[in-house]
Amino acid sequence: MTMLGVKKKSLFSSIEEEPPGECFVQNEVDEPPSCEVDEPPSILAARKVESFLRQVPEESWNDWKWHFRNRITTVEELSKYIPLSPLEQEQIRLVARKYPLSITPYYLSLIDVNNPVDPIRAQSVPCFSEITCNATGVEDPLEEGKHSVVPGLVHRYPDRVLMVMTDLCSMLCRHCTRKREWKNGGWVHSDIEIDRMLDYIKSHPEVRDVIISGGDPLVLSTQCLESVISQIRQIPHVEIIRIGTRFPVVLPQRIDDELCNMLSKYGPIWLNTHFNHPNEITPEAARACDNLVRAGVPVNNQCVLLKGVNDTAEIQTKLCHGLLKIKVRPYYLFQCDEVEGTEHFWTSVDTGIKVIEGMRGHTSGLAVPTYVIDLPNGGGKIPVQPDYILMKTQDEMLVRNYQGRIFTYKNARNGKKPAARKNKMLPQPLFPMEEFEPQPVRVKRENRAYLRS
Ligand code: SF4
Repeated sequence: MTMLGVKKKSLFSSIEEEPPGECFVQNEVDEPPSCEVDEPPSILAARKVESFLRQVPEESWNDWKWHFRNRITTVEELSKYIPLSPLEQEQIRLVARKYPLSITPYYLSLIDVNNPVDPIRAQSVPCFSEITCNATGVEDPLEEGKHSVVPGLVHRYPDRVLMVMTDLCSMLCRHCTRKREWKNGGWVHSDIEIDRMLDYIKSHPEVRDVIISGGDPLVLSTQCLESVISQIRQIPHVEIIRIGTRFPVVLPQRIDDELCNMLSKYGPIWLNTHFNHPNEITPEAARACDNLVRAGVPVNNQCVLLKGVNDTAEIQTKLCHGLLKIKVRPYYLFQCDEVEGTEHFWTSVDTGIKVIEGMRGHTSGLAVPTYVIDLPNGGGKIPVQPDYILMKTQDEMLVRNYQGRIFTYKNARNGKKPAARKNKMLPQPLFPMEEFEPQPVRVKRENRAYLRS
């Protein structure tokens, strides 16, 4: 594999120096014995990935900097591992001109190359729809740019700020909300810019929560991160620091002892990561999350609902059960943001509600994330739930449970509940019961239009 391009050479001043002599050279990979056996392209490709992975020394495989240097960034490299027709190659080439491609060898190893709709592939390999279905998405639906108070610092909610340290990521996720940043390519905020962000936080005592994000802030060296985190920790009114990163998913080797030891000195630090599919829960990812938890860093997951990847209750349940097993709390399930170039991933809100409905009550509440829409025009996050309250008066509510059974619930007022009825099951209907037969939750059409206005 060729050396992988970071767009500005100066970035290496922020990213740790590369260990000498470890660059993996493409022609070191043994070609599979394809000339001897006439195999279908899919089997051939699977063997190439296997062959490629077998060639990587364990020491390199466990070294995140090796993966970072050897990201797959061109269609030529990609087509060596995944069967791509000439048309697909040309389409990917066209997409990558607008939205570049970057896949870590680790994440590549999770792709089932025999499955054209593999969920790992869908998140990492450019899709022609990114440039052909972009009639409705916008570059910055959350209007982060408008809420930027100094370059790199977003202050949208009263008590917390978002520090965007860099636009670099180890993997470029095809559904990314900050896809717009990819075009600018490979910047890291300078020390002076970081000082300005810190000055702003110091002069705003209402800020109690600082979120360090990107791009992915863990592309920065541990020393660079420590310099920023230690300065934030010295600001008395900052209570918690949060790190937003996809490294535990796309390059878990990054969560090494050096990083964990550093983070353990500056708690409370919380880490939000981004698992989207159960196939991403691997022994490497489990080890990374375990290391974080042992360092006193709780790990939460922010999943994005993606059509064809994870838009069923079955997959979400499997994902959340897997997360709990590796000590990660399912935190949010996000409606996919309306970002240009991601339209092919969008689901309806009804789909998200159905997913939650298929989980709530059917499994432990700890395994059910909060489904939220981050509203366009900077409106912030709103939770969206199936309707469990069918009707409400001052004295009581008519509710349904996860099985569709209907109950009344007395509404306490001034510390007192209305006199109990003999039967809990609606002996005195408040209204004609036929209107409230258990039925699948429907979201009115206009809801979505409203949310999108
Ligand atoms: S890691 Fe996060 S910021 Fe980076 S491309 Fe993926 S979704 Fe976007």
